Amino acid sequence: MNDSIVAKVTALPPLREAIAAAGFSAKRSLGQNFLLDLNLTRRIARAAGNLEAGTTIEIGPGPGGLTRALLIEGAGHVIAVERDRRAAEALAPLVSAAGGRLELVEGDALKVDLATLGKPPRRVVANLPYNIATRLLLGWLETPSSFESLTLMFQKEVADRLIAGPGDDAYGRLSVLVGWLCNVSRVTDVPPSAFTPSPKVWSSVVRLAPRSEPLEPADRRTLERITEAAFAQRRKMLRQSLKRFGGDVLLEAAGVEPTQRPERLSIAEFCSLARALHDRENTA
Ligand code: SAM
Repeated sequence: MNDSIVAKVTALPPLREAIAAAGFSAKRSLGQNFLLDLNLTRRIARAAGNLEAGTTIEIGPGPGGLTRALLIEGAGHVIAVERDRRAAEALAPLVSAAGGRLELVEGDALKVDLATLGKPPRRVVANLPYNIATRLLLGWLETPSSFESLTLMFQKEVADRLIAGPGDDAYGRLSVLVGWLCNVSRVTDVPPSAFTPSPKVWSSVVRLAPRSEPLEPADRRTLERITEAAFAQRRKMLRQSLKRFGGDVLLEAAGVEPTQRPERLSIAEFCSLARALHDRENTA
């Protein structure tokens, strides 16, 4: 950790003052729910692991609460992508305190290719705007090996789906795809009162560590189609919901019991179905 940077960042005026000075009132349309408690943001930063090497990418720094924590916790190079142009003014003192370690990129994170930002290893740490959180994650997971880890705040309901396994109520398409590509763990649940302004729902920080290889071989698009069809009727037997893909014949080829329901099927079994469908479609 660079002591002089830590001292400079710690000596900055409290976030509430920085927000007031820059007139940075929260915009709902941009999913702005700020974290002002440095104990919490430092905990999130620490959950991301060692931040010294490579690049820590933050999406939506806003007034910079989590950004401060990343620098205090030793991030060697932070690139922060923010859509709200007002953030630049609020962040200016932090950029200067960071002595070259913080770079602000103005733009829409949905359009920025994170895999080209800074030097590897790259990790993403963010309190995400909830309206686009799942879209952002699925986009980054198009190239999972670009990231060492992703430590992200989601609505708790989305976090539950990311972490769920067979038999859990929240188990669904997102659980299968994300669990196929990453090791996923919950860091902590966060109450609405931790944010300014407070959202209506609880949130959770989740850490995703992309696997070096997906859990089992499968074609991603085929896996997505299978899980979409299966979970569209989650209480129905697979022989019914997968009828258009060959029903019993497909299930038999994949070694999956036709009377099974999707909510009980493991990721490995979904992969087996995806391989059987891929074979069928590519040999027909
Ligand atoms: N990191 C800050 C914190 O923890 O206090 C703010 C988090 S707030 C939940 C989400 C942030 O994402 C806001 O600063 C918002 O302006 C920004 N944001 C929203 N949509 C964005 C987009 N498409 N691209 C980049 N940033 C975006």
